[in-house]
Amino acid sequence: MQTQHFAQFAVFGQPVAHSKSPRIHRLFAAQQGQDIDYRALALSDSESDFRAGVDAFFAAGGLGANITVPFKEWACRYADELSERAHAAGAVNTFIRLPAQPESGKAWRVRGDNTDGAGLVRDLADNLGVALEGRRILIIGAGGAARGIVLPLLQGQPESVLIANRSPGRAQALADEFAVEALPLNALAGRRFDIVINATSGSLKGEAPAVPADIFSGCLLAYDLVYAAQPTPFMRQALENGAAAAADGLGMLVEQAAESYFLWRGFRADTAPVIAALREELSQ
Ligand code: NAP
Repeated sequence: MQTQHFAQFAVFGQPVAHSKSPRIHRLFAAQQGQDIDYRALALSDSESDFRAGVDAFFAAGGLGANITVPFKEWACRYADELSERAHAAGAVNTFIRLPAQPESGKAWRVRGDNTDGAGLVRDLADNLGVALEGRRILIIGAGGAARGIVLPLLQGQPESVLIANRSPGRAQALADEFAVEALPLNALAGRRFDIVINATSGSLKGEAPAVPADIFSGCLLAYDLVYAAQPTPFMRQALENGAAAAADGLGMLVEQAAESYFLWRGFRADTAPVIAALREELSQ
């Protein structure tokens, strides 16, 4: 198959050199027999520099971008328009270049979307075989990642979603926005869940959340948004305390990328071989 070239995509973050996004999007493009010009671009940590960097990217012909830590909230303010899920998340992980409105005086406009939650739901339902309908779901954590997954999870029509966080006030505030229940971590004893999602960054520091061990009893799946070469501390905690299965967030990473790619290119990539390739590379 002849390889074509098309420009131009990027992921903005700080730091971003470690990002797997360029690799993932190249693997997606290869499925179409194409090469993709997708770069990891570090921007300095000020909102005005972020805005200037993104302006320059689109002025040079950029078609789409991913946005990662710590820029997702700034990206939400940058976008000219937002999808419902980006609005609900208060964060944008995907920019899409669109034609300008005639009266705007600009050469383009930027739509902000958030594909993180859709990526999680797709990984749960399609890759791990855990449909959301009728499930009791616990989200541990109340930061940006937790905020991004609540609406997509609710759209899967679970029986309930409960948010618990180390700082209980943050959990309550997030739960109030979506009209779901909140509890402090230590008040979870005796509660039962089908799906427990760790949306904290604890696993990056080698820490499992301080939750009562019995919450994993009868749990179908414990899912850590963090991914790693080895099972994370949260995954080990869950499996040792009765969870039937545990997974890390590598599948979500690839699925959120696939959703972004679809928004840009209208092509639904086959994610299974990409997840397998990244898992293999992670283990080396
Ligand atoms: P964040 O906004 O900084 O929030 C961090 C959250 O973790 C807060 O709720 C914080 O609780 C909690 N936390 C941190 N250490 C903890 C500990 N030792 N015990 C209990 N709770 C702890 O971070 P974020 O943006 O939400 O990201 C969270 C994680 O999701 C990151 O590690 C990121 O890598 C991952 N993520 C993965 C994907 C993917 O595609 N797989 C996508 C997005 C994010 P307090 O409120 O009490 O501080």
